[in-house]
Amino acid sequence: MLVAINEIQEENLAWLTEKSQGPFSCPECKSEVILRKGKVRAHHFAHKPPINCIYGVGESQKHLIVKRQIYEALLNHPNCSRCQLERRLKGVRPDISLYVGDTRVAIEIQKSPIDIDDIYRRTQRYTELDVYLLWILPDDSPLTFFHKGEETDVHRIKEWEKYLHAIYWGRVYYWQRNALVSPYHFDKFETWVEESNWYSEDGDEMSAGGYYRETKSLKVPSTHNELHIADDFQPITRPQWSAKNWTVPNAKLWIDTSQKWW
Ligand SMILES: [Zn+2]
Repeated sequence: MLVAINEIQEENLAWLTEKSQGPFSCPECKSEVILRKGKVRAHHFAHKPPINCIYGVGESQKHLIVKRQIYEALLNHPNCSRCQLERRLKGVRPDISLYVGDTRVAIEIQKSPIDIDDIYRRTQRYTELDVYLLWILPDDSPLTFFHKGEETDVHRIKEWEKYLHAIYWGRVYYWQRNALVSPYHFDKFETWVEESNWYSEDGDEMSAGGYYRETKSLKVPSTHNELHIADDFQPITRPQWSAKNWTVPNAKLWIDTSQKWW
């Protein structure tokens, strides 16, 4: 976590605070937290063991760096106000939250792994709070490998990526730097099944293959321009929607304004 409370209930940002200003406590569970200011690692607060609080747990170094950079980039943006880290809202705690113009926006940076029930619950909760939600993945692009058979780069998609992709109408946002993200669309990936012919025991001529077959776990990513979180996004509300394996709740989303590029 990047924010902790001092003895007079002030919020302290880890990178602007010295150890001598402590002791510090967790805003959620009130137990003592330690300020960690390494030379290499991102400055942050950490619970003392044993840890019985989920707040701040599982945040990677990358997560902390992305959170701070987005926050600092939006803090002084002319169209943004009340930018805050780790704001305590009822039932959720966005990494970054702010107003863009008059619109309340929350940014969740993906902590991997996450189950889709948790994404569902948070999306629903932000919608109830009238906050428009943006999910960001901290990596700069989806991991791909070259598929020799089809001569293309493919990405092995995870369940929660598919789910985010469905929520945001076919795009997932990967962080680049400051308040810039790149949207990625995942196209279906098909492999050619060779045709084969043979004779059955009864002497009938048989054949199989000779068509493309979709491989559901592999996708072909395509990207578009870099987008600024405050300048290139808009609020939309989408109704509840169900597919075979999941339901997307009625959702208020902070989504980019680009036309489909795929
Ligand atoms: Zn805590």
